[in-house]
Amino acid sequence: MIPTRSTQAWQAADAAHFLHPFTDFKALGAQGARIIERADNIWLWDSEGQQILDAMSGLWCVNVGYGQPALVEAATEQLRQLPFYNAFFQTATPPAIALAEALAAIAPPGFQHVFFAGSGSEGNDTVVRMVRRYWDLQGQPQRQHIISRWNGYHGSTMAGASLGGMRYMHAQGGLPIPGISHIPQPYWWEHGRAQGLSREDFGLVAARWLEDEILRLGPENVAAFIGEPVQGAGGVIVPPASYWPEIQRIAERYGILLVADEVICGFGRTGQWWGSQTQGFRPDLMTFAKGVTSGYIPLGGVLVGERVATALIEQGGEFEHGYTYSGHPVACAVGLANLKLIQELGLVEHVREDVGPYLAEQFATLKDHPLVGDAETCGLMGAMLLVKDRATGAGFAPEQGVGMVCRGHCFGNGLIMRAVGDRMIIAPPLVITRAQVDELMHRIRRALDLTLADLHRRGWV
Ligand code: PMP
Repeated sequence: MIPTRSTQAWQAADAAHFLHPFTDFKALGAQGARIIERADNIWLWDSEGQQILDAMSGLWCVNVGYGQPALVEAATEQLRQLPFYNAFFQTATPPAIALAEALAAIAPPGFQHVFFAGSGSEGNDTVVRMVRRYWDLQGQPQRQHIISRWNGYHGSTMAGASLGGMRYMHAQGGLPIPGISHIPQPYWWEHGRAQGLSREDFGLVAARWLEDEILRLGPENVAAFIGEPVQGAGGVIVPPASYWPEIQRIAERYGILLVADEVICGFGRTGQWWGSQTQGFRPDLMTFAKGVTSGYIPLGGVLVGERVATALIEQGGEFEHGYTYSGHPVACAVGLANLKLIQELGLVEHVREDVGPYLAEQFATLKDHPLVGDAETCGLMGAMLLVKDRATGAGFAPEQGVGMVCRGHCFGNGLIMRAVGDRMIIAPPLVITRAQVDELMHRIRRALDLTLADLHRRGWV
């Protein structure tokens, strides 16, 4: 165990040595990080003893909730038995083989193979390498180009950040890398509402932006399209039901590979094992991470469908790609225990039939609040949009940072909710109960009321 220190002592050492991800180091150093010390079920405790409802499952990953002994035991046993061995030298370990087999069993039909990585970003780097390799093997080496979406999120490595459509990430470091371009996202509120399109009609319009981009590039140059079934980090943007089936039709028409980034949507988050099942499409490749181990230990990878697997295996020769931790035995042992637990607890059904519909019903009532323009969920992901004027849907000026004001009131009142612009988002652990959803809603409403009062004081509403 790490000896305890006071909050101030941790904050001082943190500021002195730890460069946090996606952080303004100087600003955080001045303010001091919140130190999270322990957790159980859906709850966290900080070093000041405050109990916090974690409505973000850590970072969209703690699907089975905190404190599950089966995962701890799986890791401990594997650490004793064999803490590490690689899979490079024609060797394999039982946990990696067994997890690959278990993933194939829960994957949609046609997925029998897994390539392991250490994270979602690495998984998407593997996707880029793999789709380009696939087209080389097909004798079409010019098919290099990958299309993705503005405001999509696919990780923070050079390839992950390039696939992602976060302009502020591209601005640092000369991204995207060559051979990647972006189309607008299927966000009806932003791109369809003002045009007077129904959500379903807008879904078709948004999907056809893919066709336009394929034709612009020349179909013979396009390798793949990648997207999150439901965009997570971009603000939980649930696409119209018409969107993905039309994307599928377009991908098939031009023969391009379809990649689902299931890093957030996988492992029950949307009420099916995979978000692509909920959204009604059949990808060729699926990136996974996060929920595969419920975040207890890092692990990611790519599920490889028949079309690509056959080419790689039957004609491939050596695939010059892999990571030290591809198939890490401890991570894979935890992954196996996690999948077993999801099954034993019936969490996918729990989300689909019980707590997902209940959250949808409760979350929709937020539209009564004077600050909320829109509120939507998909399984156990949800977003509400803070607006200035509900009658017209007019929003606040981005520089006012109203989402961050609201997030401050959430954090101050024992609730972790994330702000993406003025979209307030949640993705609670899948083990959440109806009574806990009631508690979550109570805390959300309190944060909204405090935010409204705060905005009145500032003269912004
Ligand atoms: N893809 C998606 C859809 C994600 O949400 C994330 C992480 N939020 C990633 C990829 C990157 O995963 P990691 O942070 O594990 O590299």
